[in-house]
Amino acid sequence: MSSTPTPPPAKRRIVTCPTCGGESVYAPENAFRPFCSERCKNVDFGAWASESYRVPAKPPAPGESAGDASDDAH
Ligand SMILES: [Zn+2]
Repeated sequence: MSSTPTPPPAKRRIVTCPTCGGESVYAPENAFRPFCSERCKNVDFGAWASESYRVPAKPPAPGESAGDASDDAH
């Protein structure tokens, strides 16, 4: 067997940046993790806030209960 000293596993992990697909250091020193940079984080958050977070403000109609109409014809 060859006695090649294997380096200990690094504390920091390398993950894929969800925005640009590049390498991102997943460590406490990276404040933008799992993103690689502040720009990528802002881009992703902007897309999420503008597109995915559009909740239609539609209050439930009063007196409208589903399944109550067919209960009389039982
Ligand atoms: Zn990135």
